[in-house]
Amino acid sequence: MAKKQPKCRFCEELIDKDTKALNRKLINRNQPDEALVCLKCMAETLDCTVEDLRDKIEEYKNGGCTLFG
Ligand SMILES: [Zn+2]
Repeated sequence: MAKKQPKCRFCEELIDKDTKALNRKLINRNQPDEALVCLKCMAETLDCTVEDLRDKIEEYKNGGCTLFG
């Protein structure tokens, strides 16, 4: 059976691994799966846009951050 994919705690959008890594990076390093939020809800919380967050993901990936695979 496939491992259950985590969902956003606000809107139940599925969370991919980049989004999960960004949660850990920007919100809480030890964020449990059930407290993860999707990019849209994270953008609202952080008062920025989803595009900003996607840029951040690329930035961290290019910077070799170990949270991003
Ligand atoms: Zn959401």
